Amino acid sequence: MVKEPMDIGYECAGGIKEILSNVNDLVPVDRVALEPRISCWRCTQCKEGQYNLCPDMKFFATPPVHGFLANQVVHPVDSCFKLWVSIRFNKLRI
Ligand SMILES: [Zn+2]
Repeated sequence: MVKEPMDIGYECAGGIKEILSNVNDLVPVDRVALEPRISCWRCTQCKEGQYNLCPDMKFFATPPVHGFLANQVVHPVDSCFKLWVSIRFNKLRI
């Protein structure tokens, strides 16, 4: 139930500005699509590769987690998927 104002948006893509952990396949300026969930990676379902069934999953734009409609988000690298270089983004005009 939505009890207070929140940011919307659960489908998102963008450019990487900074990487805060050791990863080999992504670098700043790469463009990525973001999977709108964060799984715990500690439960049985996550350890068996069925992270979509994680009982502790947080999903963007689902209270109390705000959505992606923002200029910047911090997101786990395991939920970032590199896009082809040829994919271009249009700038949002408000
Ligand atoms: Zn889990």
